Amino acid sequence: MKPESLMMSYGYKPELSEGAIKSPIFQTSTFVFKSAEEGKAFFEVAYGHRQQDEGEELGLIYSRINNPDLEILENRLTLWDEAEECAVFESGMAAITTVLLEFLKPGDLLLISSPLYGGSDHFIKKILPKFGINVIEFRVGQTKNEIINLIENSGLADRLAMIYIETPANPTNDLIDISCSKEIAKHFSTDKEIYLAVDNTYMGPLWQHPLKHGADLVLYSATKYIGGHSDVIAGACLGSKDLIKRVKGLRTFLGNMASPNTGWLLMRSLETLKARMDIQAFNANKVVEFLNNHPSVEKVYFLGNLKEKDGEQFNIKNKQCLTNGGMISFDVKGTEKEAFQFLNALKLIKLAVSLGSTESLAEHPATMTHVDVDKQLRQELSISEKMIRLSIGVENYEDIIYDIKQALEKIKKTENAVL
Ligand SMILES: *Cc1c(COP(=O)(O)O)cnc(C)c1O
Repeated sequence: MKPESLMMSYGYKPELSEGAIKSPIFQTSTFVFKSAEEGKAFFEVAYGHRQQDEGEELGLIYSRINNPDLEILENRLTLWDEAEECAVFESGMAAITTVLLEFLKPGDLLLISSPLYGGSDHFIKKILPKFGINVIEFRVGQTKNEIINLIENSGLADRLAMIYIETPANPTNDLIDISCSKEIAKHFSTDKEIYLAVDNTYMGPLWQHPLKHGADLVLYSATKYIGGHSDVIAGACLGSKDLIKRVKGLRTFLGNMASPNTGWLLMRSLETLKARMDIQAFNANKVVEFLNNHPSVEKVYFLGNLKEKDGEQFNIKNKQCLTNGGMISFDVKGTEKEAFQFLNALKLIKLAVSLGSTESLAEHPATMTHVDVDKQLRQELSISEKMIRLSIGVENYEDIIYDIKQALEKIKKTENAVL
């Protein structure tokens, strides 16, 4: 069956919970063992002192190690990406930082795509170097050979341990080729495999499946599409049994797993994930049709606008993106002044950062989400003062367009008044 059919029940046995149709919130810190022998057996497996017997499940011990709300949620999340295993966290940043710390050690080289989400960028460039980890970055549009040269010229090619990418890039919707990134990892792999991790937050678990294109680990800010209601912060990491076992091992000792309550909220969100994201992708296409033809709009950054003449970007989109997504950026004609006039005039669409939620959101990357990005780099990436980022929600698309239209008219009126 399709994942959307299984989101209401998969992995939950009502008979273990008084017949409750939905999983209760297992708001408990610890679990009672039936006997001392059982406690001993659970710990042996949890701490890796003994291999699990065929069909033996990890017993419930303590909620930093495991909890039914997290286990059921993790099982359900694996269905979308067809992953073997999943680990959930109390934030997207917790998932990302735990993965980086588990797979990197002092002296290693990390290759990243640019730009990355601000929080990831900060952790990678400001915090990882404190632990002796070297970082180099490549840009959208660089070819496989250029990236291989970049690694070789760093003098640390033999220390390359991980490639970490984010695609589509926020806020420009520029694409990075996932399978090509894995080929680069393979090119430098010796007896030790170089892992490819992909932050797939922008496309959510429906619209892009990095594991199918060679990624070893997929990361989500579950705060975004997965949670989808702007009421919870959470994260997830998916991959093979072996890799997720390592991720969960570090999670146990960092103690940054999701709480039972967060697990329960995300399970509730997953029931409508497909319905929500279908509407969001549909609405985004409609909004872009409107923006593409508006005289106050200079340029629209949207996957659906890619044409054959865009070459490699168009090919990557066809290869790895299943829809055009729900994120749109556009430049207004003018500068920060005009962009702010537009943002301040919105009524239905809320002026806030974050994305992927039921309500539509608008923000100004240059002074908000991407203010920390070096000014020169911001210019090169075309994150200018006239750029607006929209996250499209599940409202009626005609109302979203109506709101954008009236806010764009407010810019025009002021222009005319000045003239
Ligand atoms: C929001 C976001 C994150 C961080 O997730 P949190 O849940 O806020 O910790 C990471 N990557 C991307 C692409 C994001 O949009």
